[in-house]
Amino acid sequence: MSPPPVPPSTVRQARPLPARPRAVPFGRWGPRRKMLLVLAPALLSQYGLDVLAVGPGVWTFVIRLVWALSVALSALWMDEHSAPSVRLHTAFQCTAGSLCFIALVFVTGGSGSVYFNLFPCIPLVLCLLYPQDSLSATLSGALCSAGAAGLLWGAGHPVTQSLLWAGMVVTVTVVGAYGASEFRKAQRAENEGRLERARREALETLAISERRRAHSEKLATIGQLAASVMHEINNPVAFIGANLDFLEREVLSEQRAASREELAEVFRETRTGVERVRQIIGDLRGFSRMDAEVPTECALADVVSDAVRIARLRLQHVARLEVDIPAELPPVLAVRRRLAQVLLNLLVNAGDALEARGREGSEVRILGGLEGSRVVLRVEDNGPGFPPHVLSRLFETFFTTKGPEKGTGLGLALSREMVEQFGGTLRAENREEGGARLRLEFPVGDSTRSPS
Ligand code: ADP
Repeated sequence: MSPPPVPPSTVRQARPLPARPRAVPFGRWGPRRKMLLVLAPALLSQYGLDVLAVGPGVWTFVIRLVWALSVALSALWMDEHSAPSVRLHTAFQCTAGSLCFIALVFVTGGSGSVYFNLFPCIPLVLCLLYPQDSLSATLSGALCSAGAAGLLWGAGHPVTQSLLWAGMVVTVTVVGAYGASEFRKAQRAENEGRLERARREALETLAISERRRAHSEKLATIGQLAASVMHEINNPVAFIGANLDFLEREVLSEQRAASREELAEVFRETRTGVERVRQIIGDLRGFSRMDAEVPTECALADVVSDAVRIARLRLQHVARLEVDIPAELPPVLAVRRRLAQVLLNLLVNAGDALEARGREGSEVRILGGLEGSRVVLRVEDNGPGFPPHVLSRLFETFFTTKGPEKGTGLGLALSREMVEQFGGTLRAENREEGGARLRLEFPVGDSTRSPS
């Protein structure tokens, strides 16, 4: 049978990276540009204060205008998505702002200006405005301390007073820069915490969806067994029904034909039938449960018997099953139910492969052994084996040669994934004497070591 095409969902194409937004004047405004474009008119409107404080003046207006324009133009040309551009524009705004402020103090009276006492505030305000860029604030601090000292010195004040003011501006700048760096650290720690929380949540969601996927595959395997399960339950139900009819006749008839021993035998048979139905349903329910996924040391013999109990429903009509697991085989570290699911997948596949051949001479064998430090489990059948084009694609997701009502193409792909989760390998090959062989290898289980 030729393999069906791989569904488009399995073919992943590289998606182009989203283009970085470009800085366009009046284009998309981020929070930083918006803030600056509000700041620019605010700076210009401060001319009103200048008029109140020192009266109208051309130079004060010109300085306010230059200051506002430097902020507005820099905001328009800044690329908020490029760190170097932001750093460059911030340095420009801080330098231009500081020089404009020094000029404003100069034209409004120098060391006697109403604005002179605001010198230490300029670097402090810049530290608050740009907490992520202490360098620009430091630059402004240096300019302002030199400006304050220069104006005092130029007005003939003692050098000590100049030095005092310069020192005060520098101190305020250092304190502001330190506060900004602490703020940055706290912000970084908060971001890292948020990222870590998001990463942990994503991993938890992934683990849940992994479990759901494995669970659906398990249910799909059980669905494939539905016909065999119905047949297996039908037999005891049929003779339970016949026994009940017999008992009803016996109870209602005037003369009892059956002896007490015969009646006891019929009850025993009926109870055995009910037990058998209960056992099948119990096995299926136990298998389909979603259990805790903590790997523990598992004896392969137990895992095999879990899978065989269910697989027998399917295999007994198509093949003879032989199991040979040496009792002294060391345990493997795995989730028992998951490993049983893997084995059940392989056994159901073997049953499907042998179906056309008929029960006569059909065989499935499960063989366990120790090879060096690896526990090896082989599941073999004497069916048609794997044609080359099937063998090369066996473990691809959604690859199946079965009809849609029978195959999902997930069994072997998921089985390999699960085996690898427990540090093992799953390989397929054709047997020399004909038929398929699936080979599972595990490191010897050691509860002190976790599987990858
Ligand atoms: P599915 O059983 O749903 O088709 P699997 O991933 O379990 O999906 O199997 C993929 C294909 O591998 C099957 O469709 C079948 O062609 C092939 N295959 C698996 N086991 C055997 C086997 N024992 N003998 C022959 N072919 C097999």
